[in-house]
Amino acid sequence: MLLLDARTILLLMAFTAVPTALVLLAVSRFYAASVRGVWHWTGANIALAAGLLLLGLSQTANELPARVVGNTLLVVTTALYYLAIQRLLGDKPSNRLAWTTVAAAGVIFALLWSSAAPHRLAVGTLSIALMILTGLSSARLLLPLSSEKPVSHRFTGLLFLLGCALMTGRLLHAIFSDNPPAHLFAPHFWQGMILGGAHITTMLMSLGFALMIVDQLASELNRLATLDALTGIGNRRVFYTRAESELARCRRKGTPLSLLMIDLDRFKSINDALGHAAGDETLRRFAALVHPHLREYDFFARLGGEEFAVLLPDATEEVALGIAERLRELTEAEHLPAPGFPVPTTASIGAAQLLAHERAIDQLMHRADQALYAAKSSGRNRVVAASWLEETTAVLAPAPGHSVASAPLPRTSRK
Ligand code: GH3
Ligand code: MG
Ligand code: MG
Repeated sequence: MLLLDARTILLLMAFTAVPTALVLLAVSRFYAASVRGVWHWTGANIALAAGLLLLGLSQTANELPARVVGNTLLVVTTALYYLAIQRLLGDKPSNRLAWTTVAAAGVIFALLWSSAAPHRLAVGTLSIALMILTGLSSARLLLPLSSEKPVSHRFTGLLFLLGCALMTGRLLHAIFSDNPPAHLFAPHFWQGMILGGAHITTMLMSLGFALMIVDQLASELNRLATLDALTGIGNRRVFYTRAESELARCRRKGTPLSLLMIDLDRFKSINDALGHAAGDETLRRFAALVHPHLREYDFFARLGGEEFAVLLPDATEEVALGIAERLRELTEAEHLPAPGFPVPTTASIGAAQLLAHERAIDQLMHRADQALYAAKSSGRNRVVAASWLEETTAVLAPAPGHSVASAPLPRTSRK
């Protein structure tokens, strides 16, 4: 029968925990600002290495301090893993629960060894403490069940579940077996298998945690790359990506798609009168003003300077005009940048709906831009629809060299 030697396993585990702790320590030095929980995981691996060394080097006879401290350190390790996971996921860590489990296990270990109680009672105590903490970690990573969970979370969660199952097996074996191991280093098939399994699982848990860090950093970088740094709404790059995919979706489903192009009026005068910082603050306030008034699936982006765009899926031009007029009124009522400012900024808005023959988002943007230009040249603080310009062009048939924008507009929203 295959007999795994407990002492060898414990020492191997200790020696693999040390380099893992060092790698994570290096990671924590580079990324401590943005990834939480790394220090706790590093501390956990150091506690693991120390605990296993104490246990592995202790003799079969009752070496009380080594056994009590060694086993307690294993509980500390699992408590720190749980706290690290909670921190990484941005939870308020359950410090009291984790440290109460550690303290209770430590006291019981001390009582058991000082009274030379049977080995199976200590095994049971350790198993229960580790079951509680690995169970909590796996529940935090796996629940609620959802296909949206990152693979790294599911992988690490399953490892904690496996750890919990191993500890449950060890507990049941300690309670019900007719032939439990007399002490930690007694040659015993099931004890060897469970410790070997725990070794592999623990090594893989650190790999899982490292993958969770990578996922977190990747999503943070992705978030930064798609946001406009000043206003926190979408940036130009993500606007194009989103617009192309919405265009494809609306084509497939045969639903309308509209676009608003918004430009703040006489914005330069804010910079000139109050300085660039006040201009920046005005842009931030404008974005914060508009955002809550859009539907959940609308997409709001800053294309650059004081120019914004709103993508309106499933909206006809008529709906888009209603939204645009509301945004224009809101902006006017806000008196940006400040109530007493002599010429508060307003918004000029061009609206356009995707036409049946249009294949590229640039075509829609071009028509919305022309409508915006018409809104500017007909006095600012107004909404113009691209279709009105097209009607005007058809009716007035402007002579060559005569721009559409300078032709009288049939309708514009009220000032
Ligand atoms: P109009 O009504 O014709 O749109 O006039 P305007 O002054 O709003 O437009 P213009 O294009 O003449 O000026 C835009 C100004 O916006 C010029 C530029 O300094 C300022 N601007 C562009 N980007 C930023 C920014 O990120 N922050 C600040 N504070 N100002 C910016
Ligand atoms: Mg402007
Ligand atoms: Mg502009």
